[in-house]
Amino acid sequence: AADKEQFTFQTEIKQLLHLLSHSLYQNREITIRELVSNASDALDKMRFIQVNEEQYRDDEDLVIRLEPDSEGRTLSIVDNGIGLTHDELISNLGTIAHSGSLEFLNKLSGDAAADLSLIGQFGVGFYSAFMLADRVEVITRSYQESTGWRWESDGSGSFTIEPAEDLPRGTTVKLHLKEGYDEFSQEERLKYIIRKHSTFVPHPVRLGDEQLNEQRAVWAEPKSQLDDEAYDKFYQYLTHRGDESPLWRLHLSSDSPIQFHTLVYCPATNLESMGFGRVEHGMHLCAKRILVQDDCRELVPEYMRFLYGIVDSADLPLNVSRQALQDDTIFRKIRKVLVKRVLDHLTKMAEQQPEEYLTFYRQFGTILREGVSTDFENREKIAGLMRFQSSHDDAGDKLTSLGEYIERAGEDQKQIYYLGGADLSAIEKNPNLEIFRKKKLEVLYLADPVDEIMLSNLMTYDGKQLTSIDAADLAFPEDEETDKSEDETPAEEKDESSTPGFEKVVSLFKEALGDMAEDVRASKRLTDSPVCLVNPEGAMSTQMQKVLRMSNK
Ligand code: ADP
Ligand code: MG
Repeated sequence: AADKEQFTFQTEIKQLLHLLSHSLYQNREITIRELVSNASDALDKMRFIQVNEEQYRDDEDLVIRLEPDSEGRTLSIVDNGIGLTHDELISNLGTIAHSGSLEFLNKLSGDAAADLSLIGQFGVGFYSAFMLADRVEVITRSYQESTGWRWESDGSGSFTIEPAEDLPRGTTVKLHLKEGYDEFSQEERLKYIIRKHSTFVPHPVRLGDEQLNEQRAVWAEPKSQLDDEAYDKFYQYLTHRGDESPLWRLHLSSDSPIQFHTLVYCPATNLESMGFGRVEHGMHLCAKRILVQDDCRELVPEYMRFLYGIVDSADLPLNVSRQALQDDTIFRKIRKVLVKRVLDHLTKMAEQQPEEYLTFYRQFGTILREGVSTDFENREKIAGLMRFQSSHDDAGDKLTSLGEYIERAGEDQKQIYYLGGADLSAIEKNPNLEIFRKKKLEVLYLADPVDEIMLSNLMTYDGKQLTSIDAADLAFPEDEETDKSEDETPAEEKDESSTPGFEKVVSLFKEALGDMAEDVRASKRLTDSPVCLVNPEGAMSTQMQKVLRMSNK
């Protein structure tokens, strides 16, 4: 037809489509999960609009229908949600809109075995349609318009859009199934897939007259009625993650200062550290079981961005606008309770299930750590959750907490000593450690400069001073009564009787080093090495200076 327009996909999408249509990835059920999830999102948005704007209300139920045609070898997923306008079709089904998707794509191209089931997490779930179909039609009418549109593509590089008359509100995604994928037009197969992947979808999913999903609001059900399987399934639904179980979950309700139910999960793996870039927040906000906002950043602080879950508050009005949500103190109240409960949970886990805790820590410790510098109120609690290598275990594979360090240290030790360095073996060779070994004082080994920045910002933990041992003004536990740390005493004043002529040695060193050293002093901290370098009072530790020099380049 003359009014058929042709468009080319953005380069990144072309690459993605090429990958998807040639992929050997077996689990193609995920395509159905993604398309049903998009239909459900469109219904959520429609419901939100209807609550807020009277003119769009009607008495139609919001539903998702599966319409298989085994003879024609097609499958349609039909919704009466918000639909798409002409321009939305171009931008939403032709341009990568989400920030994580490019990383997802790069990761995929580098790693053929990558798990495509993650596709929905990166805002490109729609394109999985081309794993099942060699031709896809999107027939849609936006709630704002009277004319509809037909989008079509064979997934090779371009798509067309043409007007379509007499369409009901909403969207039909019609898959023309590839050779060998007829099963996706079989009713029994579809029932199985929906029950497996989409049973928690909050709108009815129908095949003919039969509703296939349970629409369970797990977070609002009593704990006693839920088993691990139900919790895990809900997790998989929320996260678009295949068969994975979460590391831990927290299901609770709170009555004051605000009423809410919440169910939060910690995923098994940290996608950020796998090179996927920042993943979007997985927290959803509901009011009396109805979704108000997904990807709700305000519900948890950045340093807990790895959490997935739902917060459902009856105190929240359904028609609350996003703008109003941003100003509302309701978030601060929810966040405060949630943060406390999560930190308490982790603290308890660290005590009672140290192995499980370490598994969590190895995945998410570096994200949680950000809280020490950003959450002033909870910094000490978060610091208590951090783990370090230490001279207590020179093999270096056992991690220790600040609390355990303090327990081992004597009562009179007012410091927690640490030493930074490029790696464990470099740290262990540092001559500054000699006196600590001799005095049997424990030193934390910080091979990650960020740990060192964290501890130097924290300054004290449980009343003990966090001290880098390459500082000149070191105090040792016994010194505190006599108030004489050896390095505070200039060499000249020292009793030279034990080392005759030492004064002369020191001044020769000073002369030879000139401006390169601020001072040269006799030291008692060495046992084997002849000299060591220390930093003047108030200066940054050696490792920190290195990091800073590197970042200034
Ligand atoms: P995501 O769902 O994470 O945004 P998708 O690739 O699955 O990413 O979908 C891309 C976009 O296409 C959606 O954000 C939405 O704007 C639009 N879209 C997809 N399916 C539908 C639908 N059934 N109804 C309305 N809009 C849709
Ligand atoms: Mg989607």
